[in-house]
Amino acid sequence: MSNSFDTNKIHSGYQPEKHNYSATVPIYQNVAFDLHDTERADEIARGELADGFIYSRANNPTVDVFEKRIAELDGGVGAVAVSSGMAAITYAILNVAEGGGRIIAPPDIYGATLDEFRTLLPKFGINFDFAEDINDFEAVEKLIQPDTKAIYAESVSNPITNIADVAKLAELAHKHDIPLIIDNTFPTPYLFNPLKYGADIVVYSSTKGISGHGNVVSGLIIDGGNFKWRKDKFPQFYEPEITLNKKGREDTSFAAVFAEKAFIAHLRTKYLRLMGGVLSPFSAYLDLLGLETISERISKEVATSLKIAHFLEENIHVEHVFHSGLLNTPQKDLVKKYYPKGIGTIFSFKLKGDKKNVVRLLNSVQTFTYLPNVGDNRSLIVNPSGITHREVPEDERRKQNISDNLVRLSIGLEDANDLIADLEQAINKAFGE
Ligand SMILES: *Cc1c(COP(=O)(O)O)cnc(C)c1O
Repeated sequence: MSNSFDTNKIHSGYQPEKHNYSATVPIYQNVAFDLHDTERADEIARGELADGFIYSRANNPTVDVFEKRIAELDGGVGAVAVSSGMAAITYAILNVAEGGGRIIAPPDIYGATLDEFRTLLPKFGINFDFAEDINDFEAVEKLIQPDTKAIYAESVSNPITNIADVAKLAELAHKHDIPLIIDNTFPTPYLFNPLKYGADIVVYSSTKGISGHGNVVSGLIIDGGNFKWRKDKFPQFYEPEITLNKKGREDTSFAAVFAEKAFIAHLRTKYLRLMGGVLSPFSAYLDLLGLETISERISKEVATSLKIAHFLEENIHVEHVFHSGLLNTPQKDLVKKYYPKGIGTIFSFKLKGDKKNVVRLLNSVQTFTYLPNVGDNRSLIVNPSGITHREVPEDERRKQNISDNLVRLSIGLEDANDLIADLEQAINKAFGE
């Protein structure tokens, strides 16, 4: 039986009969599990028993439902949930470029991701080639070198809402035997499924729209299962793995044992289990609770965000609105192709003014909350140049339109007219009216 998204978001990955018929997913707060007998213990330790649990750092039944549910919603063969979006990005990159190599990425990505790519991962032998425009395929192709291990992009960028042409990027990556990794945090699986357009690995900060209530930090890595990992380029999936030893088994590599799930099995065994950025069962429970209403929340927020964007476009104190969903940019064909339900709930605008007008605006909003998060039921406002993109060097910020008069909004579930009224009074105060 193949159900649709809205049914799967409530039921996928959970069988009540295996959990004392509890109608909702229980929180398994225990650390370890009774192995019962040695044969079963061996099977679980090799990761081969589908519902076998051993120790909550490697896997846990509550977290497992969240992983299975997301894998189903995005069309992947497996997922690993971790303690934050940054942990998801870090593990995905380390897992693909283990031992060193190069990754291609655009510079207009989440501030902490850019900081990690520029200043931290190079110290571990993973270097980044930045493509100013990730949809300039000729330029991206020129950056591909023998040790390039992946192309990385955000489906909808933060905070300008640039759209990555995922299908074309996947085609280009595959031509060179490298996978495409997409951070799909802004659209969430409700608005966009990168795997369906050829992406190989998806990462999320489920801190944002997936959980939706601003009450849990968490992340996910999802494996599409279609990428052919070349042995010479990705030897980590072909090395003998001691935990997979079994009598009579000659090839104990992740590729041999887990086939199309080699990437995600390797990530769980080597990165989650050994580096330990595990998601707590209670956090997984909050994620699952949020996920149940994702379509209802996001569809309302998308509609409200467009109303607010139109209001801002007409406001005399607003210089420009960056919202690809307005279909007023050269990317409108990409929006139509990939985002029939909308691009998301987050966008930005520039005031006709400077930092001091932005400061007055931020200090005058009443319904909007001033904080550096997105994808909450509450509407949020922030000044990227001073907060979320503070770690981005100034010349880079300028190129990306992240000027001191830029304001980012994340639209929640409040009444659209109340939000517009709040922005109107705050903008008026920002200009001394
Ligand atoms: C928030 C965010 C992250 C980081 O996620 P955390 O859960 O805060 O670690 C990564 N990418 C994008 C696009 C984000 O918005």
